[in-house]
Amino acid sequence: MTRLRVPVLMFHHVEAVPPAELAPPPVHPDSYLSRRKLAAVLDTLAYHGHHTLTLAEAAARSRAGRRLPHRAVVLTFDDGCRCFRDHALPELTARGMTATLFAVSGELGGSNRWDRPSGEPGERREDLLDAAALRGLIAAGIEVGSHGRHHPDLTACDDATLAGEVAGSREELAAAIGSSVATFCYPYGRLDARVRAAAAAAGYAAAAAIHGVSAARPGDAFALPRLPVNPRDGRFELLLKASGANAALSPDMQALLGSGQCNVPTAAGGLPFICFDLAGGANLVGSEVLVGVQGGQRNFLSTAGYGKLGVPGNMVPSSSANIDASLGLLWHADGAIKRGILSKATTPATAAGTNGAVLCAMSQNDTQNNPHNPMYGIAMAGAQGLLLNLVGTESSVSGGNSQAPMALINPSLQPTTISQRFHCFQTRY
Ligand SMILES: [Zn+2]
Repeated sequence: MTRLRVPVLMFHHVEAVPPAELAPPPVHPDSYLSRRKLAAVLDTLAYHGHHTLTLAEAAARSRAGRRLPHRAVVLTFDDGCRCFRDHALPELTARGMTATLFAVSGELGGSNRWDRPSGEPGERREDLLDAAALRGLIAAGIEVGSHGRHHPDLTACDDATLAGEVAGSREELAAAIGSSVATFCYPYGRLDARVRAAAAAAGYAAAAAIHGVSAARPGDAFALPRLPVNPRDGRFELLLKASGANAALSPDMQALLGSGQCNVPTAAGGLPFICFDLAGGANLVGSEVLVGVQGGQRNFLSTAGYGKLGVPGNMVPSSSANIDASLGLLWHADGAIKRGILSKATTPATAAGTNGAVLCAMSQNDTQNNPHNPMYGIAMAGAQGLLLNLVGTESSVSGGNSQAPMALINPSLQPTTISQRFHCFQTRY
């Protein structure tokens, strides 16, 4: 397997106005960003030190064993629409950023016919750039890759059609744009082992799929799981996606962030980081993610120890029946947080690709086992943060009972109290 580890973001259309104001309205509004939203996305990436490079560049560096730039990210735009040149390119060039555009070699200068099969309502008509326009983009530093010849679902094509779509489109596009074509993008993100093999055999250096489709594999240069940037994505989702993690903050948390209750200073450009600081953090040991003592997750407390935490003797996690390892990190089999994660991890592959870490900062004057005050540990790890207003229950006396070790405390970050529930914590990387 050719390895390539770089976060790849996916965009489709960039228009002058938000999707809700487009006429006719798009069938898939999540594929449409306003130019203003794209500008905000690019500003956020730049503010946080992300460095854009084309997919071809990333693949070439990776193959040569060269390190990618710090916080490298690849921006990809599908289908080769005119809106890319009119709205995305000026915003990219204004910031010295680059991108990879995937064009459909047999439809240059035409329209997105594949989105509007006859007899169906279909998507808005979008005009596609012609060969001359694509040459202009290359001159402006944009990579042009292939998105097939006519944009079919390649997994449904016979071998001859597949060869024409994958290898044939590479030659056809190269002839049209007067430049070699190094990367491929599977239409609809769909691939299987046969389609992947066709892309690898056609001479491409990398091929892009979409996160969540079967056969997309992190680290596989020919099955790259791209993360879509949606019109509703906030900084939280965007920055996690730019770091290679697919993220979606639940709507109720988004509402909290936007309501002012959380007091996240949105103008500062920071990443809102929600830190769950549970009173008696050891409750996690009993009922949620398993936190052992010094030896790690499987270094369990005694049954009596769990009893103090309210865990019945027949549910202690030291019995393997009460441990669930399906998410990598060990959880109590009956953990509600784990159930919530698994309800979102809809396929075994998604669950198998999920893992986590427990950040612990020991209390100085408590049981010496409680994972309290992780915000100080996070700050020590290099995040420059700001403790914000409490959300949830009232401030409590917990701060008096469970102070962080003095060596960890940074007075400039110290909250006035430690909450029993949770804080919003803003990091600025
Ligand atoms: Zn497409």
